[in-house]
Amino acid sequence: MTSTEIARPSDVRGVVLRRGDARLPGEVTGFQTADPHRPDVVVGARDADDVVAAVQHAATHDLPVAVAATGHGHTAGLARGVVVTTGRMRGVSVDPASRTARVEAGARSADLVAAAAEHGLAPVSGSFPGVGVVGYTLGGGLGLLGRELGWAADRLRAAEIVTADGVLRRVGPGDALFAALRGGRPDVGVVTALWVGLVPLGSVVGGGVFLDAADADRVLPVVRRIGATAPEPLGVSLGVVPVPDLDVVPAPIRGRTVLHVRLVDTSGEAARAAEAAVRACAPVLLGGLAELPWTASGSIFGEPEAPHAYEGTNLLVSQLSDEALAAVVGAAMAAPVGCVVDVRRLGGALSRPADGPDAVSFREAAWIVRVLSSTAGASSASVREAHASVLAPVEDVRLGRMAAFVYGGSPVSAEEVLEPGVRELLAGVREEYDPRGLFGRG
Ligand SMILES: Cc1cc2nc3c(=O)[nH]c(=O)nc-3n(C[C@H](O)[C@H](O)[C@H](O)COP(=O)(O)OP(=O)(O)OC[C@H]3O[C@@H](n4cnc5c(N)ncnc54)[C@H](O)[C@@H]3O)c2cc1C
Repeated sequence: MTSTEIARPSDVRGVVLRRGDARLPGEVTGFQTADPHRPDVVVGARDADDVVAAVQHAATHDLPVAVAATGHGHTAGLARGVVVTTGRMRGVSVDPASRTARVEAGARSADLVAAAAEHGLAPVSGSFPGVGVVGYTLGGGLGLLGRELGWAADRLRAAEIVTADGVLRRVGPGDALFAALRGGRPDVGVVTALWVGLVPLGSVVGGGVFLDAADADRVLPVVRRIGATAPEPLGVSLGVVPVPDLDVVPAPIRGRTVLHVRLVDTSGEAARAAEAAVRACAPVLLGGLAELPWTASGSIFGEPEAPHAYEGTNLLVSQLSDEALAAVVGAAMAAPVGCVVDVRRLGGALSRPADGPDAVSFREAAWIVRVLSSTAGASSASVREAHASVLAPVEDVRLGRMAAFVYGGSPVSAEEVLEPGVRELLAGVREEYDPRGLFGRG
């Protein structure tokens, strides 16, 4: 047997693809198309036993191992070793009595939202229905209603994980590994299932309002004030989006740089008042609020669904002044590469401690300022330079970065994304469950 063979391929119910197989690139490449994995073996797992077989093979042969779900958070590709893909494990089952869902490794946000909605329940889900529940939750999980409901990781109840020694474990409150999984992305194994808490929620008032970026002087102070004074049920985000000049784009925003004010509210009143304030300061090109079932909450940001190559980074900041916001938006509009900006209000329940040990860092952040660019036709150096100029106006109030929003090869250090206590927790967990560093080896 060579080191590129799975130890017990007959045990694997899913697919096993070896280097050279024409199906391999498609199996490992998801939403992020830059720097894909190029491993010796891919195991497209169908169940936890497949994951055990794949990780045991890596452990036996001392090979690096990584997990790929949807590819939304993909950073650097593995050049050898074993990749476990989880796209065949999308089961979700809801227990309405305990308001808990069991979510398999490859389930997407839309899968969980749909299953929960059948019982009048909802998860603390984020902006994009296609994101994987496991990757999202392990990275903290900044939900559209986070200001009212906290981080998705705060509602993690238990997890099943195949650690680097190839052992399937169930962890819950009291385990250091469980604490590390609550927002720390410890990278010591493949999670096969999570149990997450749900909330009673049917519909919200939400949507996005598009305005011309040429009106930024009038719009930005109003949006910043709405965010700064928002009650907890109101979620507020400001996007700056250079919209492509394509026929598929609605004519009013086609080919323009627009401000996209996204609002979501469980009560409705605050969002309606915020929309009125925005409409009062500049002409609205497109959009508006509506009562939406939570299953349609992906329409609030309306992010593009086509896979592409991109880089992105962000800063979690303690405050945001009108001057700093104007400078961020000005820098994005002046950048030589297209920069998509997302400024989201944090605070509220996001700033309160979890109900037990966890690994979410920089909870005290008041805002997150994100920037993202396609890397098609642009060098990484020019993209990174542009991103640095967009974030420069908030450097002096930075607390750190959110790892889940660092995309592609954008450089980031552990010190930037993890508080010291979380770094210590993760170091202990790695020493216990992956002392040889099979995960995260690159
Ligand atoms: C368009 C878009 C919108 C987004 N919106 C939000 C948002 O509103 N709020 C928010 O918080 N984040 C958001 N994100 C970020 C997203 O949560 C992270 O990128 C997350 O890591 C994606 O997980 P994935 O499984 O979909 O992606 P993948 O790239 O497949 O996985 C990313 C990482 O997650 C970990 N991971 C995934 N599955 C497993 C597993 N089974 N076991 C162990 N580790 C695993 C691994 O470290 C993996 O490298 C968004 C991203 C995009 C591209």
